[in-house]
Amino acid sequence: MPELPEVETICRGIAPHVTGRLITRLSVHEPRLRWSVDPKLSAWAQGQQIRGVHRRAKYLLLELERGHLLVHLGMSGSLRVLPASTARETHDHFDLEMDSGWLVRFNDPRRFGSLMHLTGDPAEHPLLRKLAPEPLDQAFDADYLQAALRGRKVAIKIAIMNSQLVVGVGNIYASESLFRAGIRPGRAARSLTRVDCVSLVKAIKAVLGDAIRAGGTTLRDYVGATGEPGYFRQKLYVYERAGEPCRRCGTLIKQRVQRQRSTYFCTDCQH
Ligand SMILES: [Zn+2]
Repeated sequence: MPELPEVETICRGIAPHVTGRLITRLSVHEPRLRWSVDPKLSAWAQGQQIRGVHRRAKYLLLELERGHLLVHLGMSGSLRVLPASTARETHDHFDLEMDSGWLVRFNDPRRFGSLMHLTGDPAEHPLLRKLAPEPLDQAFDADYLQAALRGRKVAIKIAIMNSQLVVGVGNIYASESLFRAGIRPGRAARSLTRVDCVSLVKAIKAVLGDAIRAGGTTLRDYVGATGEPGYFRQKLYVYERAGEPCRRCGTLIKQRVQRQRSTYFCTDCQH
């Protein structure tokens, strides 16, 4: 599943190819995505200039003259920038053709992705309005985390994966951040001290930052914005390393299941 670092990588990857370009045509080949693509969307988008591309949580926002195109990659979606003459393949669901002779192509085998247009302030859209702070923004700091965890009995790993607390901390990044912060994933969220909150905020920012620098981490084949493999798996300390020695202390990494997701941790480095 594309995680925040992959979406950020795609955002940065397509930005130079789309910014300032005119949309000559938006061809929707398969409107049955997670939500049906509005049949009027193609006519709405055609002829508009793309002013920029932004990311909010795992949504990509293409800023046009009269609103935004909102793209979500779902479970298996990818966007690539290709010459307009490139033959379509199975699961290519829409093409955003530009006056440069290139297009942005969306491929999504599982069709949990989405494409819609927003005419008002995107921050007020129902999908975006209630989203928590971005983990890489300054607003996500130890004060914020400490206040957000107050009184919560839920395990800290579950808490940081909750997009109403902070967006974009997926399963891999939650395990890795907790390892770096030295915090056991099963601890009650409310048990974290001030020092723990400082460490965890720092760790989340570092893990996501490293992943963005590495071009995104994902378990599936992932194709970057320009068609080259954008997948350079960063050095993982605990994720999927059950039974292997901890890179820091040599203790064997443990695995447990929390809310149907595997969690990995070191009993010696994490308390
Ligand atoms: Zn260890």
